Amino acid sequence: MLTGSESGRAGAVRWLFTDRAGGVSVDPYSSLNLATHVGDASGVVSENRAAGLTLLSGAGALASMRPTHGTGVAVVTAAGESEDVDALVTTEPGLALLALGADCVPVVLFDLAAGVVGAVHTGWRGLRDDVVGAALSAMLGLGAQGQRIEALLGPAICGPCYPVPAERAQEIEGVAPPAVGTCKDGQPSIDLRVGISYRLARRGVSARYVGGCTAEDSRYFSHRRDGITGRQGAFVVLDRA
Ligand SMILES: [Zn+2]
Repeated sequence: MLTGSESGRAGAVRWLFTDRAGGVSVDPYSSLNLATHVGDASGVVSENRAAGLTLLSGAGALASMRPTHGTGVAVVTAAGESEDVDALVTTEPGLALLALGADCVPVVLFDLAAGVVGAVHTGWRGLRDDVVGAALSAMLGLGAQGQRIEALLGPAICGPCYPVPAERAQEIEGVAPPAVGTCKDGQPSIDLRVGISYRLARRGVSARYVGGCTAEDSRYFSHRRDGITGRQGAFVVLDRA
């Protein structure tokens, strides 16, 4: 049982945000690591992903990603792992999408009326380069409408836990001013979810948060806190008719 995970549904869309609990990986990936690109054994990652799909229910197949902090979007119609993309979009019922993160934000997007769903991985580069915007554009191309799209922003590092160099803060200031703040020690900081919400709002899309700060809460994988570690994820799927 995936004890700390959070799941939900709206109409024909189901989603699941995972944490570390309930998988079969061993340290430093214990235990529900969903990523194949972090050094964990592929067999146990497959088992972990299957456990996620079971809890999600309604999914018959999985489309996953090997994220690279880019803005690549794959429109997928079948199971498999997409290389070098940070966003997946589909209209295929029963095909679950999986976005990964460990401080970076796993994002779920959906337009219920159009039957289009998306899953995105974004850190500060994705915020700067607008990978979520790229995913939205792909969804619009599949019939989604901006005003109808809903966004869920999964567990991620919060602003006070995320100090950054001044030049990085300046870059983010240029695209998402509310994301830039100051840590307790006076260093500039970035709140990724605040920045993504800001960029989404400018496109007419409202966002809500699921889960807390990955760096503060040991139930989550945190790259900043733990170095070599696993990835939690966000699954989303359209029910099969
Ligand atoms: Zn925090």
